[in-house]
Amino acid sequence: MKEKSIISFGVSRRESLFIGLGGLAAALFGPGFVSRSFAAPAAGAPASPVSDAPSGPLVLPLLPYAYEALEPVIDAETMRIHHNKHHRAYVDNANRILASLPELAKMTPEEIVLNLDKAPEDMRQGLINNVGGHINHSLFWLMMAPGAGGPPKGDIAAAIDRDFGSFDAFKTKFSDAASKRFGSGWAWLVADKAGKLSVISTPNQNPPVMDGLKPLLGLDVWEHAYYLKYQNRRADYIREWWATVNWDFVNNQLKG
Ligand code: MN
Repeated sequence: MKEKSIISFGVSRRESLFIGLGGLAAALFGPGFVSRSFAAPAAGAPASPVSDAPSGPLVLPLLPYAYEALEPVIDAETMRIHHNKHHRAYVDNANRILASLPELAKMTPEEIVLNLDKAPEDMRQGLINNVGGHINHSLFWLMMAPGAGGPPKGDIAAAIDRDFGSFDAFKTKFSDAASKRFGSGWAWLVADKAGKLSVISTPNQNPPVMDGLKPLLGLDVWEHAYYLKYQNRRADYIREWWATVNWDFVNNQLKG
């Protein structure tokens, strides 16, 4: 069985659970696929949220660290609202839409956004926004880690040098994409099918997979991601955010 997954393209969902994430990624993929016990959070991590929305097929993943773990770069209150309100709303809204689309409801989140022709036209934008929001945020939490940041290491370091010239050149390009995104959206480091890296920016919650691109690293520049601490200073948020980048996860994405 070969299915696309959030964690890694071309790797089955079951295999992808064990790519150095201690099984925490299991929580991304919903019930019936793996025991929730695999998704036990790290000590101090937020408890599994309770929702009054229709259950499944999408599930709000647990964070693999506590809400305050990324301080001082991202404050605990921002993380709590971002994860438990914003991400939860994408999951709940997606599940409400998918409740009437049984064929799509059986698919992975990536497959859903790649099979929008199977949904009535007036439901497609809702699927892009909400399943896309779920895909993007599920990745975003794993793309950051406490005590991370610094220069890239391993294969991603070599690939960045190859395709951007240097880490500094890449960092400038990515930061520009993040600061110039008008309104709400994301900056991404992506790989195409041939493995070539590029920097893109997507509006709203459009996930890179819809453009046939594998997300390696992403930065949420919706105001909800930074406004409590940084207010209108998006550039400061972008600059500080580099200290949270989880290069181990980026390397796993590159391999997958
Ligand atoms: Mn967000």
